[in-house]
Amino acid sequence: MQKKYWLCTICGDLHVGVNPPEICPTCHQSKEKYVEITFEEFEAELAKFKK
Ligand SMILES: [Zn+2]
Repeated sequence: MQKKYWLCTICGDLHVGVNPPEICPTCHQSKEKYVEITFEEFEAELAKFKK
């Protein structure tokens, strides 16, 4: 199955998978708060955490 990249718009949690998590593990908001992002955006978000 195709992997997709997801970003929680509330807390910035990143998720890789076919679907976003039912509940964000960090801020406990529902999956409607996740938006699908591109791999490039995903890598840019990851880079922020590494700083
Ligand atoms: Zn969240």
